[in-house]
Amino acid sequence: MTRDHKTRGFTVQGRGAPPAGNARYLLRFDDICPNMDWRNWREIEDTLLSHGVKPILAVVPDNKDPKLIFDADPGDFWDRVRVWQSWNWTIAIHGWQHVYVNHNAGIMGLTKKSEFATLPRREQSTKISQAVNKFKAEGVLPTCWVAPSHSFDEITVEVLAENGIRAISDGLWSWPHGDSLGVTWVPQQIWSTIRPMPPGVWTSCFHHNGWNSGQLHHFKDCVARFSHLTASFDEIVTEFQRRQITPGDRRRAHLDLLWNHRIRPRLARLKGYRPA
Ligand SMILES: [Zn+2]
Repeated sequence: MTRDHKTRGFTVQGRGAPPAGNARYLLRFDDICPNMDWRNWREIEDTLLSHGVKPILAVVPDNKDPKLIFDADPGDFWDRVRVWQSWNWTIAIHGWQHVYVNHNAGIMGLTKKSEFATLPRREQSTKISQAVNKFKAEGVLPTCWVAPSHSFDEITVEVLAENGIRAISDGLWSWPHGDSLGVTWVPQQIWSTIRPMPPGVWTSCFHHNGWNSGQLHHFKDCVARFSHLTASFDEIVTEFQRRQITPGDRRRAHLDLLWNHRIRPRLARLKGYRPA
């Protein structure tokens, strides 16, 4: 590890060999939109291609979130999306406009801001059908749902199924499962890094806007170490769509939520107030 890896917000891992067990990894990039950070993206794309990794790209259909504006719009965004699709990369719908309208964390309970959770069915249906129609008008077939800030509810899932989106990338379980609507849930439990994990399917989520050289280097290092353990989203959905959720899945997700998303952030905040 070089000092570049000691970047704030990144988990620094030892160089030990990844586990030889049944851990498999998916890589997901959020906030893909015309004004994203293209300078970093060029290197990310080269890295993914050279290691044969097929990521999930969460594309914002009609971005209106000023926080996602980093670079100039290259003018050929949807051409690029079609090229990614031609490489069998998974194109996910990342909300509609990435604009939060309330402070509800939805059924995942992770982040208290939402573009969908608690909205009436009619409103959710309008947003999702607009998103799907936008993709289809651009010749892109969306196969997966990635909610902005992980926030959505049961109505969202029903509306997604009605619109032909039958796979969701979210949740803290160790393994994917299918539900009674025929929707396959592929969990997403890791952020900004990849690390050795026990048997399971582990999705690591990256937000590349504004990465510095250390963060980019860390990503490349992760891909070099774990690419042989990655799978494509389609492979995972096909394999697990009939698997049912288990009490063990629920327990693992509950403990992860409690420890990593409730207790640890509070401890970290408390630490900040300690006198030196
Ligand atoms: Zn987002």
